[in-house]
Amino acid sequence: MTTRAPEPGDDRLSQLVELVVELASGDRGARMQPSPASDEIDAVIVGINMMAEELQALDADLEARVTERTLQLEQAQLQLERLALYDPLTGLANRTLLADRIGQAMARADRGAAPPAVLLLDLDGFKAVNDSFGHAVGDLLLMEVASRLRAVVRESDTVARLGGDEFALVVIDATNDQVLEMAERIRTALQAPAQLGDQVCWVSASIGVCFAVRGQQADALLRDADTAMYEAKGTTRGAVQIYETRMHTAALSRVRLADQLRGAIAGGQLRVHYQSIVDLQDGRTSGVEVLVRWQHPTRGLLLPAEFIGVAEDTGMIAALDRWVLDTALAQLAGWRATVLGDSAFTMHLNISPIELRSPRFADEVLGSLAHHGISPADLVLEVTETQMTGDDAQTLQALETLRRAGIAVAIDDFGTGYSSIGYVRQKFLDLVKIDRALVTGLDTDPQQHRVAAAILAIVDAFGLDAVAEGVETAAQAEELRGLGCRFGQGIYWCAPMSAAPMTMHLTAAAHATKRAAS
Ligand code: C2E
Ligand code: CA
Ligand code: CA
Repeated sequence: MTTRAPEPGDDRLSQLVELVVELASGDRGARMQPSPASDEIDAVIVGINMMAEELQALDADLEARVTERTLQLEQAQLQLERLALYDPLTGLANRTLLADRIGQAMARADRGAAPPAVLLLDLDGFKAVNDSFGHAVGDLLLMEVASRLRAVVRESDTVARLGGDEFALVVIDATNDQVLEMAERIRTALQAPAQLGDQVCWVSASIGVCFAVRGQQADALLRDADTAMYEAKGTTRGAVQIYETRMHTAALSRVRLADQLRGAIAGGQLRVHYQSIVDLQDGRTSGVEVLVRWQHPTRGLLLPAEFIGVAEDTGMIAALDRWVLDTALAQLAGWRATVLGDSAFTMHLNISPIELRSPRFADEVLGSLAHHGISPADLVLEVTETQMTGDDAQTLQALETLRRAGIAVAIDDFGTGYSSIGYVRQKFLDLVKIDRALVTGLDTDPQQHRVAAAILAIVDAFGLDAVAEGVETAAQAEELRGLGCRFGQGIYWCAPMSAAPMTMHLTAAAHATKRAAS
């Protein structure tokens, strides 16, 4: 076929060039009508039209894919935001979002709105639930708490989980009374038992409330609510406490005390005192309880009530108890070599239940006994009942290891907690220390007498021995002996004292025993 040049006046070629330019510049809908000539130029026109069609289809497909990818990206972005701003377990706001909401509320307050209030909540007994029923049940409990909180607050308020068992709320546009009513509603809502799988749990929360003042920073507000919550925890379970400035001072002094205590343990400011434990049948000193003191450089001799809590909160309790253990065992080795010989004598040490959960604890105690050449039978470890969660596996294992090695375990402050009988029934105890609240009034109040009698009968029924604490009068000692209590301890016989006077006390007691025997 020969190629015919376009007829003069035939502008198809220039139209074709224009078409290509249009297509190339993005107008994928441009087309050109072939002429009736149906020559080669028309063949090219048809070819280019077909390519344009193809291009248009490709474009549409690309566009659809871009739209889809954009959507996916947006969703990923949203999910990232959720992760960054919300707690994955409960779906509540997290600390970041909470701070943001507080910031917004404070900005509104600067423009004349009422400043917000922040409520900080910490569950009481959450650790016990986790330890006893496992983390899965613990998680269910947190979700349940989250949904109860959401049900109580208004749409405009933010509920957040700060981590662990700590929750926070920002309440806006509410009077102080309304905020406190909300705190009350939360308390009530949390009181109802929670059915978690096949477990039923009871929880409560300690609540700190802080009313913001204009110009306050979000973190300061949270810190103050936390301080109030800490104070609430110190009172009763499920208390509500409003922040006051003096609490800030108290919190600061706790921080200062913690710093000083760190130095005190290493710097030799701790002391131990000893208080004798007496066999009520023959009046013999059967052992001593070791009680720690802190010779503070400016505040004088501090009692444990002033610093054990701080030591526990900061984890320093392990170092403290270790120091007490070593010091006391060294002292016992000394007494064995001089006044005691091989007579029956036990040394009672207080240990924090936090320590029992440390896997190394039992080994360290046994190591220290071996180091000082003391028989495990000479040692009694006293654990406070109110803080012990009896069925936590680690605690039980530690107790078992210790007892298998021949160390006795006593439950301290018995009769003050609500699960007393439960502990006595479990087979990991040797001794029960009857709290002094049950001893006070024993000789004057008939009701108290009956309660003490009942408790001693239970202790006896489980084959355990009892030590009554805080015995202050001869009448109390006599009553206890009559009720079958085996041992007594208290200022009636001997106040806690340092090693030197205790050495004299033990020497005198040894002489008396010898005289009685000869
Ligand atoms: P606790 O184990 O119940 O110790 C008995 C407390 O009763 C001691 O208080 C003791 O001084 C006091 N006491 C003794 N006789 C009488 C009395 O006749 N009447 C009255 N009203 N009180 C009496 P302290 O020394 O202040 O110790 C307080 C608590 O601190 C102890 O209570 C114990 O739980 C804890 N603690 C003491 N030393 C240590 C330690 O080394 N480590 C740990 N983790 N805790 C310790
Ligand atoms: Ca004790
Ligand atoms: Ca006690």
